[in-house]
Amino acid sequence: MKLLYADYILLMDEDFTVLKSGGVVFEKEIIEVSEDREYLKDKFSEAEVIFAPSNSCVMPGLINAHTHLEFSGNRTTLEYGSFLGWLDSVMEHREELVQACEDSCMELALAKMLKSGITSIGAISSLGRDLAVCAKTPQKVVFFNELIGSSPATADVLFADFSQRLENSQYRASPTLIPAIGIHSTYSAHPIVIQKALGLAKSQNLVVSAHFMESKSERRWIDDGKGEFQAFFKSYFNTETPVSDAKRFLDSFKGVQTVFTHCVHATDEEKQAIQAMGATIAHCPVSNRLLGVGKLDLESLKNLELPFAIATDGLSSNISLSLFDELRVALMMHYDLDLRLLAKDLLKGVTKVPAQALGLNSGEIQKGKDADLIVFTLPEQLHSIESLAYHIILHTQEVETVFINGEKSRWNF
Ligand SMILES: [Zn+2]
Repeated sequence: MKLLYADYILLMDEDFTVLKSGGVVFEKEIIEVSEDREYLKDKFSEAEVIFAPSNSCVMPGLINAHTHLEFSGNRTTLEYGSFLGWLDSVMEHREELVQACEDSCMELALAKMLKSGITSIGAISSLGRDLAVCAKTPQKVVFFNELIGSSPATADVLFADFSQRLENSQYRASPTLIPAIGIHSTYSAHPIVIQKALGLAKSQNLVVSAHFMESKSERRWIDDGKGEFQAFFKSYFNTETPVSDAKRFLDSFKGVQTVFTHCVHATDEEKQAIQAMGATIAHCPVSNRLLGVGKLDLESLKNLELPFAIATDGLSSNISLSLFDELRVALMMHYDLDLRLLAKDLLKGVTKVPAQALGLNSGEIQKGKDADLIVFTLPEQLHSIESLAYHIILHTQEVETVFINGEKSRWNF
């Protein structure tokens, strides 16, 4: 049993409660949290006591709900600035990018995430090449086996490949490797195979992730069969009509626990439908900027009480998998929102919200939650507790200590 004292303990509850000079008692799970040090000292006199340094913060470990580890080899290969320009470059260089990222490349990406305080990951796996490293990493991984395939002619083959990858992940399932299902997008998965995959999600209680309305091009193609996607589908797949419409696509997720990623071009009606099904949106600000798709309207989500997580997407559309880097960008990108309130929502978006979305027993410091905790230090003393959230986002690069299920976790690189 450990008793960890710190200057600021962020519970990450709904009210954004911060305990000043408190302590957390934990083994595998959190046993007690209190501001009363005397009480903790008396009640848990057997515990190993850890004093975090001055100006230190303890938070739940961060959760990166959406990333693509298999594409961690990208640096300057892919083209940015427009969605279709990027997608064309992915089509052209996909094979070399995948080959460029062996286990060591993915292990480095995971270790860097750990060092930046990420204790859980939603990994979108296109090929299953990341299964071995995800099974070995100390972090918890919700492993989304991704289904792709819009052509009825190849649907069966692609579904069989998806089923095999799902089975492989189920074979290696553990408390830290949680098999799940990814549906690539509205335009790239046929409704028949989506239905089959979501049938599995329902019967086996698996979490699902799907990209949804990322770009204007997707919106135009799905709504009218027009726009930049027309030439793309003609040249790569020799088709001229979209396989689904947005309503049909969204409706198929009813009754499934889903994370919809991006949603930059989702309509209010679609956001309402997402809220009504109890789903969550994953917002990836850097990826959205690099791919030139615009800015997610966070205020519309707040008005609908639709929770959003902040995620990095993969290194195929980012320069970093650190959520602190991502939060800094989000803070600047949404310059029209109140800085203080936004900072608190952003911190919830990397803890409490994604924990619920991914079905993890973490994301909050509360009795009974997993003891996934991070410790880091602010550069100097705070003068107002109200400034804590944005100063954490502005100043934190790496964390000093990470506990996963109460065990100290080390990165080696
Ligand atoms: Zn993605």
